[in-house]
Amino acid sequence: MAMHRLGLHFRSFCYRSPQLGFLIARLASLALSLARNWMSMEPQAAITRLKELGLLRSQGLIGGKWLDAYDGKTVQVQNPATGEVITSVPCMGRRETTDAITSSYDAFSSWSKLTATERSKYLRKWYDLIIAHKEDLAFLITLEQGKPLKEALGEVIYGANFIEFYAEEAKRVYGDIIPPTLGDRRLFVLKQPVGVVGAITPWNFPLAMITRKVGPALACGCTAVIKPSEFTPLTALAAAELALQAGIPPGALNVVMGNAPEIGDTLLESRQVRKITFTGSTNVGKKLMAGAANTVKKVSLELGGNAPCIVFDDADLDVAVKGSLAAKFRNTGQTCVCANRILVQDGIYEKFADAFAKAVKNMQVGNGLTEGAVQGPLINEAAVQKVESFIKDATSKGAKIMLGGRRHSLGMTFYEPTILTHVNEEMLISREEVFGPVAPLLRFRTEEEAIHMANDTNAGLAAYIFTSSIPRSWRVSEALEYGLVGINEGIISTEVIPINTFIYISMYILCCPFGGVKQSGLGREGSKYGMDEYLETKYVCLGNIKDE
Ligand code: NAP
Repeated sequence: MAMHRLGLHFRSFCYRSPQLGFLIARLASLALSLARNWMSMEPQAAITRLKELGLLRSQGLIGGKWLDAYDGKTVQVQNPATGEVITSVPCMGRRETTDAITSSYDAFSSWSKLTATERSKYLRKWYDLIIAHKEDLAFLITLEQGKPLKEALGEVIYGANFIEFYAEEAKRVYGDIIPPTLGDRRLFVLKQPVGVVGAITPWNFPLAMITRKVGPALACGCTAVIKPSEFTPLTALAAAELALQAGIPPGALNVVMGNAPEIGDTLLESRQVRKITFTGSTNVGKKLMAGAANTVKKVSLELGGNAPCIVFDDADLDVAVKGSLAAKFRNTGQTCVCANRILVQDGIYEKFADAFAKAVKNMQVGNGLTEGAVQGPLINEAAVQKVESFIKDATSKGAKIMLGGRRHSLGMTFYEPTILTHVNEEMLISREEVFGPVAPLLRFRTEEEAIHMANDTNAGLAAYIFTSSIPRSWRVSEALEYGLVGINEGIISTEVIPINTFIYISMYILCCPFGGVKQSGLGREGSKYGMDEYLETKYVCLGNIKDE
């Protein structure tokens, strides 16, 4: 009973109001029917439609102009499910990035001077356009990233909601008045935009990782140079096109892509760029942090995880299986908050492993555009080879393959959803992010042992606990060295309502801070806390106030 109350806390909040419940149901059925209609469209027809709408862009955006690389170099964007080349985009570098920074710097002087209400209106318009084109953007995400179309649609709604949320937050950037210690003084605190922001984003959430940064940046009055991953630039370019259509002024948003180290170095070296916000691997994040030291920029980092998912003997088995499945296999295991290690207590280990295997077996692998597919391809061959090397390391040290463990018969970069048992802490898979559809099951005996195992890593992004004990859920949550903790819930990183295990509808009423501790990052994104990352605090002292 206690477990039931605890586990459904999130959802019961949303369902409390019948009107809200009705709205959720409407949204869910709308999203599903849209996804169904869209799925029936031939990929070629969908691409033609994107071209007609101006949403299939193959140039960078600098100062409001669509441009090729200055030396004409390009890089191909491929569909990971088929290997087909979708289009080519410019391979930009130092010169283009310098121009993008200049245009952002110029735009800052006017964009930052707009009233919060004016900026809010532009952002709202951008949100409306993203929502109006949600199927187009979802299709693009599936095409270049591979995630199933319904999951992509969930990302679009989730990503759009950051724009809407920060359109509202723009109006709530308050300062302070501090009681003076001397009678002839008045003391004020102002919040001001930091300036030009360099936003570097990964391929696994081609839209949402951008909007989670650019939404608050623009809302505060900052301007930005976005550097999407070379694997998924098309969604970023389409979103930028919609920003232009929304009237966001030229230069306020620029998009460059291509030579990542060169673009990164140019952003780091520029004195005009006052903030770097990065989502991606821990290694690249550390390089950016070191590089930002020379010009003492503000830095926010959303880096890799090594999420433990702890299943205690007293867990509700169904809840634990469903939650672990969602936490592990979302986006085919390619999210920073994916459960990387499933720690199962001795008394429930066998029962959990059997039930989990049954659920994993039921997942359909396929091209994300195929009806029913819930597991897409991995992003590229290197990702498959990483998965293979982790499995080889684990089995050479005694792990057993309970399910999967090989490339999928579909070929390309499809991999069979895999479960490993007899996994121990010495194996690579326990120490590093596998970023693929492999669930290693580790056994523990006591609560203390589980906490020790969970914390024995440099990462500290997300952790999950399954238990029916409220005291234990508090004890363990407090002891875990992580920025996010899910209790009896496998989907915690987004403000969403799950429709089923892999499909979510975003709820803008539930914005929570996202970010890691230890080597998983610095700063928070989303929620009211996400605004602080783009604001400077200025103290103003008004002195010598004399009686007239
Ligand atoms: P990545 O290799 O670090 O790439 C991330 C971004 O950095 C890409 O745009 C990449 O460009 C760029 N980049 C690479 N080298 C660079 C350099 N020297 N200077 C400047 N930029 C550089 O990571 P990924 O493989 O795309 O993403 C997966 C990682 O992201 C995982 O570790 C995952 O856990 C993490 N992640 C974290 C969060 C979070 O919120 N904590 C969310 C999502 C993902 P190119 O792609 O063009 O090379």
